[in-house]
Amino acid sequence: MTVTRFAPSPTGYIHVGNLRTALMNFLIARKAGGEFILRIDDTDPERSEEKYVDAIKHDLEWLGLTWDRVERQSERLDRYAAAADKLREMGRFYEVFETPVELDLKRKKQLNMKKPPVYDRAGLALSDAEKDALREERGSYWRFKLDHERIEWEDLIGGHTSIDAASVSDPVLIRADGQVLYTIASVVDDTEMGVTHVVRGADHVTNTATQIQIMHALGGAVPQFAHHSLLTGPQGEALSKRLGTLSLRDLREQGVEPMALLSQMARLGSSDPVELRREMAELIEGFEIGHFGTAPTKFDVADLSPLTAKFLHGFSYAEMADEIAAVGVPADKAEAFWNVVHENISTRADLATWWKLCTEGAEPVIDEEDVDFVRDAMAMLPAAPHDGDTWGAWTAAVKEATGRKGRGLFMPLRKALTGMQHGPDMSQLLPLLQVLKAK
Ligand code: GLU
Repeated sequence: MTVTRFAPSPTGYIHVGNLRTALMNFLIARKAGGEFILRIDDTDPERSEEKYVDAIKHDLEWLGLTWDRVERQSERLDRYAAAADKLREMGRFYEVFETPVELDLKRKKQLNMKKPPVYDRAGLALSDAEKDALREERGSYWRFKLDHERIEWEDLIGGHTSIDAASVSDPVLIRADGQVLYTIASVVDDTEMGVTHVVRGADHVTNTATQIQIMHALGGAVPQFAHHSLLTGPQGEALSKRLGTLSLRDLREQGVEPMALLSQMARLGSSDPVELRREMAELIEGFEIGHFGTAPTKFDVADLSPLTAKFLHGFSYAEMADEIAAVGVPADKAEAFWNVVHENISTRADLATWWKLCTEGAEPVIDEEDVDFVRDAMAMLPAAPHDGDTWGAWTAAVKEATGRKGRGLFMPLRKALTGMQHGPDMSQLLPLLQVLKAK
């Protein structure tokens, strides 16, 4: 059975970059009729927070990315300890003592000498007596001893991938305070949970190489890997600094529709065009991991607005009736209201904005040269109630009286009544402008 997982660390809100990972794993599992696990990578007690676990779930629920079960790494520490013991017994684990500052110095020296900054395995050369002495003065931690061979796999996105293990530092698996680190926890989970496909960002390619070796050492089955390219801004600029402003909760607050976001993310960076889908089943059906490429993927948050608008415009009145009622539109006006405004909303929140305009009126926008014209025209507006013919009859009379026509006639009236240059057909909007009743 196909098993995938989305494995966020609950150390912050998830953003569009994380979503790409989550969505691809979700779509692969659903397309294959398999299982999608939400794995909370919370082995770091200092940085992990429960509020982020809740927020991640909330974001995924909002998008409809349902999981089959939740796993928490903090509840599986005994499994990681057992794996660590096994690796230690096999002689694949060694104790090291360098501080971050010392490691940094080593790295700089290597770079100065034009050598790759790979850990020099100094820990392996220490005698027992030296280790005892070092333990007295500082904490030790543990590295996995990589076999210096080429590590290869067929990446579902990157194709044949080969990494020379000698060019990679032996990964640290256990910290000085005993905390297990991501690499070993992830390997144990992927193996024991029967994960068959791991999709994650291209920043994990080196991790994958080391994880494959650890999996082999532990005797686990190696899943298939797919590394998607990282998102950049529209000009190809790094997005990392801006990702904080591209959290899913922010997009939700801005009124982005889940299906607009998912439609974009399921296709961006692939050879398939971005097409708005209204149903998750269609997204699942049309998803092909092999169609994605390794080139950085340009993401423009502005593209979500037209997709969101298009999604909303596609609803029938019946589908929106409850939401229209919820903003206070009386039943006898509700369908007319939807017909008038539906092409003019960009988010659901605009329903309330338009109804407010109908009931309270807009701040009129009147250009200096139109002040007299608008005043005279408004004096000619027949008393409410207005119907579909009122606008035509009124503007014809105003034209007659003032000699204005075309844009010079209609635009000042639209701006005076709605405060905007664009908007719905005025002949249909006018009967809904309750505010004019008071006149
Ligand atoms: N917690 C890791 C991360 O967020 C998971 C990476 C993985 O998918 O293995 O980067």
